Amino acid sequence: MSDTKHKIIIAVDGFSSCGKSTFAKAIARRLGYIFIDTGAMYRAVTLYALEHGAIRSGIVDEDAVVRLLDQITITFRFNPERGASDIYVNGDLAEGKIRTIEVSNCVSRVSAIPAVRRKLVAMQQEMGRRRGVVMDGRDIGTVVFPDAELKIFMTADPKVRACRRYDELRAKGDNVSLEEIERNVRERDKADMSRAISPLRQADDAVVLDNSCMTVEQQMAWFMTELERINK
Ligand code: C5P
Repeated sequence: MSDTKHKIIIAVDGFSSCGKSTFAKAIARRLGYIFIDTGAMYRAVTLYALEHGAIRSGIVDEDAVVRLLDQITITFRFNPERGASDIYVNGDLAEGKIRTIEVSNCVSRVSAIPAVRRKLVAMQQEMGRRRGVVMDGRDIGTVVFPDAELKIFMTADPKVRACRRYDELRAKGDNVSLEEIERNVRERDKADMSRAISPLRQADDAVVLDNSCMTVEQQMAWFMTELERINK
């Protein structure tokens, strides 16, 4: 059950592969809130663009991506086995396919397209309309919900982040190298911070969580202290 009297919005923003989703999911479970992984939505658009010829040999044809947007319907369905929602694109399960290195290598270019952001931000605002959500992404506390009651900005050492993503992908059987992952993590951070529209940045009223050397349990303890602080 929720420790807060009223349902609030919790924005979790930060760098790539900091464990934002793991942390946000744990918070949502603890509070009985809905967890929304907005990165999955940008990945879903990227996957669709790859499958429909709008990205070829790593080159993103922005006009072609924009033309595809009206054909893309993104939905989430709760998967009790994972204890989290799976993402569907036009009714097809896309959860496993959106986390490949191919999608990771193109997603920052797709997410910098203004029409893509307009569509996904509008969806995210609608999903959080009734509050009681934990949303993770890059621009949740700055653009999607600038009035979120609690804003958390997550960061961790890039090497630690690359190792975490490497372990995750290897466990799934992906044959990737640590160097390739580290390059992708650093390039995405740079692209996400320097794009013209909604760049990744810490909201002025966000609290920073550097989890380089923290377990999930320690992060939860930190979170409960923050929750008490805003409830005072
Ligand atoms: O969170 P994740 O690493 O899965 O996000 C994938 C990419 O989606 C990010 O690198 C970023 O380019 C984009 N993104 C974004 N805005 C968000 C969430 C993700 O631009 N709110």
